[in-house]
Amino acid sequence: MNAKWNGQFSCFDRVARKKTDECAKTIVRAGQVEIGGDEFVVMAGPCAVESERQLLQTAEAVAAAGARILRGGAYKPRSSPYAFQGLGLEGLKILRKAREETGLAIVTEVMSEEDVEQVAEYADLMQVGTRSMENYALLERLGGCGRPVLLKRGMTATLEEFMQSAQVIAMASPGDPQIVLCERGIRTFETATRNTLDIAAVPVLKMVSHLPVIVDPSHAAGVRALVPALARAASVVGADGLIVEVHPSPDEAMSDGAQSLTFGGFREMMDDLGPYLAIRYGKRRSRLRLVNQRGVDPSFVDPRVVDSKIVDAKISDPLIVVAGGAD
Ligand code: PEP
Ligand code: MN
Repeated sequence: MNAKWNGQFSCFDRVARKKTDECAKTIVRAGQVEIGGDEFVVMAGPCAVESERQLLQTAEAVAAAGARILRGGAYKPRSSPYAFQGLGLEGLKILRKAREETGLAIVTEVMSEEDVEQVAEYADLMQVGTRSMENYALLERLGGCGRPVLLKRGMTATLEEFMQSAQVIAMASPGDPQIVLCERGIRTFETATRNTLDIAAVPVLKMVSHLPVIVDPSHAAGVRALVPALARAASVVGADGLIVEVHPSPDEAMSDGAQSLTFGGFREMMDDLGPYLAIRYGKRRSRLRLVNQRGVDPSFVDPRVVDSKIVDAKISDPLIVVAGGAD
């Protein structure tokens, strides 16, 4: 670890990288999906579960485009008490149905320690939102819940405070910490975007911690036109994946419609990520999965064949190259 950060982060010993173990990395398992390994894992879905039809349609669309995990809030932390608060248990049941129908793993937010047990029955990955990063009662309960945790960075939290919250979960966890860190943008003086994506946070966290790091370009941007560019940036600075908002009809969404991608927009974003991921994972000759543009042919190919295609890959290439892939 860089000497500058050694003293600052090494005290968070359950989540910090040790000086003697520079290559160590934790792989987090959410259902059948491994985060932090040789796959760039994309989680996608609506901000909130609104209805069975909305979620199932979205699940099918994002799965076909290469997403591995379905997101959707059943309990929604909203700044305004008048905004839609989520469907609660009914939303969790709809998420379970989507998993049964598509095989996607489920990530959903838990807001209160009292809900941990219930949400853990339905979720493969327990999301802690930006507003809850310092809810220590919740973090401690999550450490023992038997499910991995997606910890979002507090919107005004330093990286040291972020690592501290991860350490709180890890100290309450019986085994190796199963925590994914998520950079989702922080508050700065800038108002053109909803938050400021702290892109440097990704390589810093990768250096100081052995935990996987993903990026949420949707809440960082606040507008859908910026989401693909921020997603590409995340892929080249070394993020292990993304969490992205997608809605069948964003203009009618009950929350965060302005930053949600349409199905077509999501497919395009995934297409455009292909060459960047090919360069990154192709070099390591990791197994790659090719999905054609309609997303119907997730056949595996010999990595050498993929490598030769990478050489010719262009931004507009009608191939999504997903590193790794399911068996
Ligand atoms: C969300 O993922 O919909 C969400 C509320 O995110 P954040 O906690 O980062 O604002
Ligand atoms: Mn949202």
